[in-house]
Amino acid sequence: MGKPTGFLEFERKASLKRDVNERKQDYNEVEKAYSKEQTTEQAARCMDCGIPFCHNGCPLGNIIPEFNDAVYEENWKLAYELLSSTNNFPEFTGRICPAPCESSCVLGINKPPVAIEYIEKSIIEKAFEEGWVVAHPPKVRTGKTVAVVGSGPAGMAAASQLNKAGHTVTLFERADQIGGLVRYGIPDFKLNKDIIDRRIAVMEEEGVIFKTNTNVGVDISAEKLEREFDAIVLSGGSTVPRDLAIDGRNLKGVHFAMEFLSQQNKRVAESKGKPVNQDKDHQGLPYANGDILAIDKNVVVIGGGDTGSDCVGTSNRHKAKSITQIEIMPMPPETRAASTPWPLWPMQLRTSTSHEEGCERGWSINTKEFVGDGNGNLKALKLVDIEWVRENERMVMKEVPGTEREVPCELALLAAGFLHPQQEGLLNDLGVEYDQRGNVNATKYQTSNEKIFAAGDMRRGQSLVVWAISEGREAARAVDEYLMGQSFLEAKSVSMISPQYLGV
Ligand SMILES: Cc1cc2nc3c(=O)[nH]c(=O)nc-3n(C[C@H](O)[C@H](O)[C@H](O)COP(=O)(O)OP(=O)(O)OC[C@H]3O[C@@H](n4cnc5c(N)ncnc54)[C@H](O)[C@@H]3O)c2cc1C
Ligand code: SF4
Repeated sequence: MGKPTGFLEFERKASLKRDVNERKQDYNEVEKAYSKEQTTEQAARCMDCGIPFCHNGCPLGNIIPEFNDAVYEENWKLAYELLSSTNNFPEFTGRICPAPCESSCVLGINKPPVAIEYIEKSIIEKAFEEGWVVAHPPKVRTGKTVAVVGSGPAGMAAASQLNKAGHTVTLFERADQIGGLVRYGIPDFKLNKDIIDRRIAVMEEEGVIFKTNTNVGVDISAEKLEREFDAIVLSGGSTVPRDLAIDGRNLKGVHFAMEFLSQQNKRVAESKGKPVNQDKDHQGLPYANGDILAIDKNVVVIGGGDTGSDCVGTSNRHKAKSITQIEIMPMPPETRAASTPWPLWPMQLRTSTSHEEGCERGWSINTKEFVGDGNGNLKALKLVDIEWVRENERMVMKEVPGTEREVPCELALLAAGFLHPQQEGLLNDLGVEYDQRGNVNATKYQTSNEKIFAAGDMRRGQSLVVWAISEGREAARAVDEYLMGQSFLEAKSVSMISPQYLGV
């Protein structure tokens, strides 16, 4: 442990952010670059706990106290080796992870927790700066082939790990770019897409074969896939959005959040000279709804989560007339709810950088109707306040009398989550089984067909990038064991650091 009194001496400081008025004018990242001095000081706050709860809180099992200590000692290379031994893409999680590790940090019991996410981002950015992130192609190829279907963080992590084990991996993606929701869901102001490209270049050099614009199940049949590959990892995400089947749903101006967000990410890519296909959606499927722009419109975002918050940030950059985000659930408490004590992931109000940039927020509100202007265009939303009451052991919603109203709205964005993966096509053709929620049933990552595995949102339902990476790594280990009878790949389920990564 670097500095025993660090947590007493230094206040928590996480990433600095650009001024709200400045950042609303562009799509560059909201967070400023890390400062080496600040990171070292923040790492000194770590108490090197006997039982580091942070480590358990992280779905990847990141070895947090050790990399904190290495940063404090200014041994950044060791910090990078420790971090990259458990996390394939710290440059993603260091930017957009809600940091469950910080919620379970022991220091968080009576002080602000260690700024773990900020330290993680600093380590990986330093590693790229110093040229430490280089390709490590496998020394020996096994002769086995693996198809990974879907190139979000789960598929990317699985491909990276399986390639490291020496298998020949082809990563298929039906969109025109690699990255899944990190590419076409999460806006550039949270994660600049050059960050993904930088990583893809390393993976390509290591030998991963990327095939974009390839809709598996359509361009390659399920039968051909099974015939040509020794194992298959399904990592196609949770792609069926929750709809709102109420009157007026078909009016012009009512859209799923992903239509709006992915178009904007494509515009940003185009502005940087990257060729993208605006006639296809974020998944490479034909798209004909035209440009969705918030400029001068009253925007209502329906859904209070991350996706909704990203719509708020994007609408502000489009210069919307007004932005309101509504949520059907009650407002969470401002501090950790008593039902989720430390070290659990806290139920509490979250205010994102997009919220800081300005919007109205409302809770316990139900949308009853999309109201048209008589010409097929959306003109307003009919809303009503609700309260949640317990009836026969179930919580049910009740309208609050006298609260029904119409609010002006020319653009409504549905951000109410995702139900499950698309089942028709590839999944049904492969004959995989589903769980009760409609996700691919793959206990221990293997489906009922022994050569087919699943990972990420397609298996666990809509979740987080950190879980997707973790699932990709665990699935890769399961595939490697299936192909080789044993596996030396790291995964949370086994001991973490392979000696080669520590140079021993
Ligand atoms: C708008 C938005 C914002 C988010 N913000 C955050 C955040 O801030 N922090 C966070 O941790 N998480 C966030 N998430 C959640 C996170 O992005 C997902 O949990 C994560 O990306 C899931 O990874 P995945 O690899 O399982 O699937 P995905 O990222 O969904 O990738 C799946 C890919 O598979 C492809 N695919 C599907 N079927 C086929 C096929 N048949 N052939 C070829 N390709 C196919 C799809 O086109 C897609 O590119 C956000 C999600 C959304 C929608
Ligand atoms: S729980 Fe917090 S203080 Fe303790 S080792 Fe982990 S990061 Fe350091």
